Amino acid sequence: AKRDTGTSYRFYNRELHISTGYQLRLETDLRHAIRAQELELYYQPRIDLATGEVRGMECLLRWNHPKRGMIGPDEFIPVAERSGLIVPIGYWVIEQACQRLQESAELGFPGLVLAVNLSFRQFHDPKMTETIFRIIFNANVDTSLLELELTESAMMHDPEYAQRCLRELNQLGVSFALDDFGTGYSSLSNLQHLPISLVKIDKSFIQDLGKSADAEHIIRAIITLAHSLHMSVVAEGVETKEQLEFLQQQHCDEIQGYYFARPMPWNELVQFLTQQSRS
Ligand code: C2E
Ligand code: CA
Ligand code: CA
Ligand code: CA
Repeated sequence: AKRDTGTSYRFYNRELHISTGYQLRLETDLRHAIRAQELELYYQPRIDLATGEVRGMECLLRWNHPKRGMIGPDEFIPVAERSGLIVPIGYWVIEQACQRLQESAELGFPGLVLAVNLSFRQFHDPKMTETIFRIIFNANVDTSLLELELTESAMMHDPEYAQRCLRELNQLGVSFALDDFGTGYSSLSNLQHLPISLVKIDKSFIQDLGKSADAEHIIRAIITLAHSLHMSVVAEGVETKEQLEFLQQQHCDEIQGYYFARPMPWNELVQFLTQQSRS
């Protein structure tokens, strides 16, 4: 066992992460994180494949933990979700996003879409629509530039509730994207009565391109079906030129991924947008 230190370390590390003690400590720390201003949003641009222009960006949470350093969402979102803390955190994210929408217009980048992730627990908060109404109203932003990303499981848990919430928010101008598409069990036709304007193909399919013929077939099928339902398609996790070219051939609408840009802090994003608009 001594020889295999790489694997055993990883195992040990993973077990440490799911230990109750660790989770409880993380939860206690997370309670203070908003007020202590330890949470920060990073922004990852989304590129229109037809024009090569930035269409918008996705807001991705980071936690600057005073002792543990930068913690990624895969580690603390589950803790936030279980403890219910995701609800206030999620509203903070939407407030920030609305502020950034205003700033980007003032900086001379109007029309950029800002996408925010909503998890299961947030979506099922009984005060969700009224709280989002209030945030949008106070921020006085162009609501058609705010996009909320939801997974199939969040929407399919209670389809009637989902339909009511999406319609109410959609009437305000907010649009919806189906996140991580292809990983769940529902089909797009189950969701076609919902006001969803965009489908995001999960990055696992993009990363399987060139390795499995299935990935190609699945991606092709998703794009064709989404387009026939008048939805746009974003491919996430695009890292290589080959992936980009395949997606272009398949008439995918937008891409998001390290090939083009990583998630970055707001000031870097502003520099990035400035460079893009000059070239
Ligand atoms: P997601 O919504 O599927 O976000 C996309 C994830 O893919 C992000 O991970 C992003 O950094 C990563 N990514 C983007 N391009 C590439 C690429 O080319 N290659 C690879 N390997 N990865 C790429 P991140 O930032 O670690 O976020 C993980 C998940 O945490 C998100 O997955 C989302 O489910 C959740 N999350 C992040 N921010 C929030 C938030 O504000 N609220 C909620 N509820 N969930 C959030
Ligand atoms: Ca997302
Ligand atoms: Ca996703
Ligand atoms: Ca994901």
